[in-house]
Amino acid sequence: MSATGSPPPSRDDDRAASPVGAPAPGRVYLVGAGPGDPRLLTVRAVELLRAADVVLTDKLVPPEALDLVRGEVIDVGKIGGGEQVPQEETERLLVEHARAGRTVVRLKGGDPFVFGRGGEEALVCAAHGIPFEVVPGITAGVAAPAYAGIPVTHRGVSAAVAFVTGRDVEGRPPDLDALARFPGTLVFYMGVKGLPGIAAGLIAGGRRPDEPAAIVQRGTLADQRVVSAPLAEIAERAAAAEIRAPAVTIVGDVAGLDVGWFGRGPLAGRTIAVTRARPQASALAARLRDLGATVIEAPAIAIEPIDAELPDLERYDLLCLTSPNGARRLLEIARDARSLAGPRIAAIGPGTADALRAGGIEPDLTPARSVAEGLVEALADVEVRHALLARGEEGRDVLPDALRATGAEVDILVLYRTLPQPLGDEARAAALGADDLVFASASAAKAFHAAAGTLEGPRIVSIGPATSAAIRALGFEPGLEATDHTPDGLVAALLAGA
Ligand code: SAH
Repeated sequence: MSATGSPPPSRDDDRAASPVGAPAPGRVYLVGAGPGDPRLLTVRAVELLRAADVVLTDKLVPPEALDLVRGEVIDVGKIGGGEQVPQEETERLLVEHARAGRTVVRLKGGDPFVFGRGGEEALVCAAHGIPFEVVPGITAGVAAPAYAGIPVTHRGVSAAVAFVTGRDVEGRPPDLDALARFPGTLVFYMGVKGLPGIAAGLIAGGRRPDEPAAIVQRGTLADQRVVSAPLAEIAERAAAAEIRAPAVTIVGDVAGLDVGWFGRGPLAGRTIAVTRARPQASALAARLRDLGATVIEAPAIAIEPIDAELPDLERYDLLCLTSPNGARRLLEIARDARSLAGPRIAAIGPGTADALRAGGIEPDLTPARSVAEGLVEALADVEVRHALLARGEEGRDVLPDALRATGAEVDILVLYRTLPQPLGDEARAAALGADDLVFASASAAKAFHAAAGTLEGPRIVSIGPATSAAIRALGFEPGLEATDHTPDGLVAALLAGA
């Protein structure tokens, strides 16, 4: 972001430029996580999540936000009305961790000061002399309507907007007579169960029965649902559509404007389940969502780095990378790209090559066919005496065996392992009910099968031949295989085969 020609800012400059300063120990940050779409986290929220020693998180926080956390995560989320962690306990934890000198992030869905009890927690910090900061988030009452194509104010249509809770501390409905007289848009939070009473009360208070209204469930998320109807019918229509919390209800003429945009695109109407490890799944998921797909993230594997020392590369004339994860880990342990100088570098496919390029390394060799056999073919004319293969724990033996067959000595540097992740019943049902089930690696296919028990149901989409072979070994047949064995190739295949 610096002007062309000026030197890049140093790390200290970076910190000084941050609006409220560097994350500080012993401080509490009341942070809004936005309405659900992880791309709506603020830059400040991301920065603090990365720096936090401990994060106290809530229901309705996007899981991707927690993937950024390197410190401890404590879930103090409340389920429905039933207490999980009582508020006093949450407040006690805040004080205790801050007093212990930790950087504490209290993460809440939406905005911390909009129906988030952030004000109460700020008062507790103040009462205990604990320094705190508030990081606003995008509140559901603005974001969910926006993703449903409803501007909460509109020139000439609505000049005011009120955020209203559907029930107060005692569970009572708000003063609907007074709200009926409000000169603008009404947005109700926590008002799914109370909707019949709210709509009736507003009409009794003078609102037009034909005034446009809409209810948005899981706004900004891939499975967002919207029901629009006149105020007099909205409750019945929402019930018929089985709308559930979390949802916001918008009452006002703005709900009748049609500026819908979300979920349109070439993949609109398709539900696609993505099974990669979370950080990568999210990148692929974001691309598919941009094309209009409803994406279900069912991460069947997690990548666990394995500690390894970079051997002396002078001893090798070939360094082989067989996966993007391997390339990223290698760059991590190498720290400085110069320490990888020496051997020829081979990348098994374009994804691995891209991961190397991201670290400033241009591979010498990328085979035409992105499988171990392709790499062996590409190496046919190259004399290899001593090769180093950097890869995950459970790699295939084709490449080392073939290299050894040419007389080369082969060492293997294990950099990570893939761990199967358990799948909840809901995630399993959602993934198996999708139109497409996407596998970007053989290990993801095996892990998903182990967790779900089957691949039966959706069309199976595979990134390439090695993954397809693993799927066949499980007794299933891929319905679509990417021509280009990269995430881009998967997207292209899905677009062509939609
Ligand atoms: N602090 C939050 C609100 C917490 S109260 C914020 O600023 O958004 C919880 C209520 O927020 C839910 O009952 C629902 O009404 C609303 N909500 C939260 N996330 C939502 C979403 N993705 N879509 C629709 N409503 C949502």
